[in-house]
Amino acid sequence: MSELSDLYQEVILDHNRSPRNFKKLEGADRKAEGYNPLCGDQITVYVKLESGVISEVSFQGSGCAISKASASMMTASLKGKTVEEADAIFDRVHKMLTGGSSPAVDAEELGKLAALSGVSNFPARVKCATLSWHTLRSALKGERGVASTE
Ligand code: ZN
Repeated sequence: MSELSDLYQEVILDHNRSPRNFKKLEGADRKAEGYNPLCGDQITVYVKLESGVISEVSFQGSGCAISKASASMMTASLKGKTVEEADAIFDRVHKMLTGGSSPAVDAEELGKLAALSGVSNFPARVKCATLSWHTLRSALKGERGVASTE
């Protein structure tokens, strides 16, 4: 298990150091802002939708390593997914982060996103990891205002 933890930690550090899709998305047709007051994480998520499929997704913002890595992994995993698939993945990630699943199942069903499973041991950081997902959901629903983890 410790080897797996090291691997997962390496994935998170890598995404924090060089976040994927960390840019403003020109021509985005959906956009939402999110804020996690507990930690001070701020994020803007941009989405381009084509016939219900996420053709492009990116983010900008500032926050802790967990929030940044989670947002980076989210954007990397959602390109080409439908809105319904994205919703289902979020539900699955949320279950993992709140400790409702087993590591083996997480790894099989979530692939690289399972690297965030260690966050479930730190309840105070769960909102850092879910911020980008809440913000994405708000962008997909076309909601106005700032998505908050509170
Ligand atoms: Zn945070």
